[in-house]
Amino acid sequence: KRIITTENLEEDIKIEGELRPQHLDEYIGQEKAKETLKIYIEAAKARGEALDHVLFYGPPGLGKTTLAGIIANEMGVHMKVTSGPAIEKPGEMAAILNSLQEHDVLFVDEIHRLNRQVEEVLYPAMEDYAIDIMIGKGAGARSIRLNLPKFTLVGATTRAGMLTAPLRDRFGVVNRLEFYTDRELMTIILRSAHVLGVEIEEAGALELARRSRGTPRLANRLLKRVRDFAQVKYDGKITKEVANYALDLLDVDKYGLDHIDRSILLTMIEKFQGGPVGLDTLAAAISEDAGTLEDVYEPYLLKNGFIQRTPRGRVVTEFAYRHLGIPWIGSS
Ligand code: ADP
Repeated sequence: KRIITTENLEEDIKIEGELRPQHLDEYIGQEKAKETLKIYIEAAKARGEALDHVLFYGPPGLGKTTLAGIIANEMGVHMKVTSGPAIEKPGEMAAILNSLQEHDVLFVDEIHRLNRQVEEVLYPAMEDYAIDIMIGKGAGARSIRLNLPKFTLVGATTRAGMLTAPLRDRFGVVNRLEFYTDRELMTIILRSAHVLGVEIEEAGALELARRSRGTPRLANRLLKRVRDFAQVKYDGKITKEVANYALDLLDVDKYGLDHIDRSILLTMIEKFQGGPVGLDTLAAAISEDAGTLEDVYEPYLLKNGFIQRTPRGRVVTEFAYRHLGIPWIGSS
């Protein structure tokens, strides 16, 4: 199993509860999102209203769920958690909405995967805090309106582009989460190490940060894995040497790339002369789903300059050739 996948693995769930920051001021980075949220939260609290609906988008593991929890905490309300694929029928969504208390947060992960009928329940719910229920069948059918408590919908998605316009337009606050800097990740790692009671040197934390692909979920996972190495092979402390040794063994290179990233780049170079190659063609060549390639693998490679998007397709950069130790022959 790929250690640097940004998906939530079982090993994360065990530690994530402990490591999740509970308050805005413990939440590191994402300054823009934090700043706006702080203002909206304060204003909503001062007016005694529910917070406006919030949408977070960005790659997995950047802290969308964590922020939803923080919102609930800061507002002093409960949070219900569900996800797009988990709700199949409109009635299920109606039941969840109906179970909320005044000002509660409903967190819907992967909100772009809600089916159409379920999504339509959300429109009046978000706009008027109400749901329309059909009573009876055929000619005698009529709809009655049921009022809901005023609540806050927090939606999260890795693919903002897949949201329908009517849903997107009903969010008052839209925040895009960004990859974290090495410094920010180092701070997160030091904090997590402290919570988990792991001894770590700053240089070790920085090394971990550099290889964590800008993603806190990975930073925490690598910390946990490297801790095991430190315990078994060294005296328990994570130094730069231990971090380097363990991460090399785990096949995470100094830019956080693993064999899958390298094979994507190598395939582009060997089969397509470095590109341009279209998303679907590339996905087929590496036997991956195009959506996964676009959402999970590509953002980090793009952001760090290993590949570029051009109108004719994806292209491997000179930087990537150098990183892989392959002579650069110039762009075609
Ligand atoms: P997402 O919902 O975007 O997939 P999560 O909110 O589940 O990501 O974040 C994954 C883990 O990363 C969390 O359990 C939390 O421990 C950690 N994390 C995320 N963002 C931060 C942050 N800004 N500061 C500290 N830890 C964070």
